[in-house]
Amino acid sequence: MSNYSVETNCVQGGYQPGNGDPRILPIYQSTTYKYDSAEHLGDLFDLKVPGHMYTRISNPTVDAVEKKIALLEGGVGAVMTSSGQAANLMAIFNITKAGQNFVSLSSIYGGTINLFSVTLAKMGIEVRYVTPEMSEMEVDALFDENTRLVFGETIANPALKVLDIEAYAALAHRHGVPLIVDNTFATPVLCRPFEYGADIVVHSTTKYMDGHASVVGGVVVDSGKFNWNTGKYPELTTPDASYHGLVYVESFGNAAYIMKARVQLMRDLGVSPTAISAFMVNMGMETLHLRMERHSQNALEVARYLESCEDISWVSYPGLESSPDYALACKYLPKGACGVISFGVKGGRMAAMKFMDSLKLAAIVVHVADVRTCVLHPASTTHRQLTDAQLVAAGISADQIRMSVGIEDVQDILADIRQALDEAKKCR
Ligand SMILES: *Cc1c(COP(=O)(O)O)cnc(C)c1O
Repeated sequence: MSNYSVETNCVQGGYQPGNGDPRILPIYQSTTYKYDSAEHLGDLFDLKVPGHMYTRISNPTVDAVEKKIALLEGGVGAVMTSSGQAANLMAIFNITKAGQNFVSLSSIYGGTINLFSVTLAKMGIEVRYVTPEMSEMEVDALFDENTRLVFGETIANPALKVLDIEAYAALAHRHGVPLIVDNTFATPVLCRPFEYGADIVVHSTTKYMDGHASVVGGVVVDSGKFNWNTGKYPELTTPDASYHGLVYVESFGNAAYIMKARVQLMRDLGVSPTAISAFMVNMGMETLHLRMERHSQNALEVARYLESCEDISWVSYPGLESSPDYALACKYLPKGACGVISFGVKGGRMAAMKFMDSLKLAAIVVHVADVRTCVLHPASTTHRQLTDAQLVAAGISADQIRMSVGIEDVQDILADIRQALDEAKKCR
């Protein structure tokens, strides 16, 4: 399927039924697998032959969906996880340990900031944030011999800053480390980070990939392009005692990173998805290309309306010509800038709350990126745990509303916004 477009692979990539097989991806609701000989199972445990041994590590339903996602991103392999948080943990922990550090853009998802600043810190892994005002020299000075990777989001949630993937890939590679990109908001339909030099991609599949707000999940994808054989990543190039001295780069070549993530980290952390959740993500992805187009069209129309609207103090959407990230959006997101918009309602926090309470079609939910239009106030919810300084660094203000524009008729969405703004005006 690798010669087909992303759109075709959204529909048909991954599961390839044989003669007389079920047309639709079967849900293999089994923790375990059967073998003809004890020797074969022994070989499986030694990773000498491919195959499934236990659903914590791999499962045929999950495997088919991982193949689809790897195909969509143009990678050599993927590992699905129980959540986006687990995907980010796996992606980073696969090549870091206590005493080491990594560099991350500061403008990222609040849950990821917590993971980096709280839990990874407890594990002795230090995050060093790149903030927008830093000079090139200051950014370079963040790196030392214990720096393992660079992390950023294609479209930052919720700051909506677009990552200059080529520039950060060049920065990472200059320092001999890979670039990991969280591609959740763009999806491979709008942007394929590997084409611009990213080495590893992660997703919260909870968002657009599922697209229906039904199932929490994540995935790590390996481009297979990063050269681990530099002496800097002994976990991939020296024997793993827990597999009788297997060396990942020798046994798995350019799939070393993703194989280690599965057979070592997934084995030990157990953050695996269920077969039924993988099935649901697969169903969602069958329409991903259509949904991303409609989300992006609707969001651009809503953003233009809000920009022209007297009751709005500011609008942020990278697809708007007025956006400071418009040039980056043209380069990295030519097919659309996804459905998420941020804006401020005139009248501050009170007016913002009144606006949200007055919406009838758009619901207040702790979610983004599903088919239904919804809104959220990041400062009092998803980013509540952040300090004021962290809020500013993450690009969030107190009056900020994050709207995830759905795939309903845009005229109905606009009418709902108009009537809610009229209500909000009354408390100015
Ligand atoms: C939601 C989200 C996550 C976390 O994913 P979960 O599936 O909620 O665990 C990580 N990164 C980004 C960009 C997200 O939007």
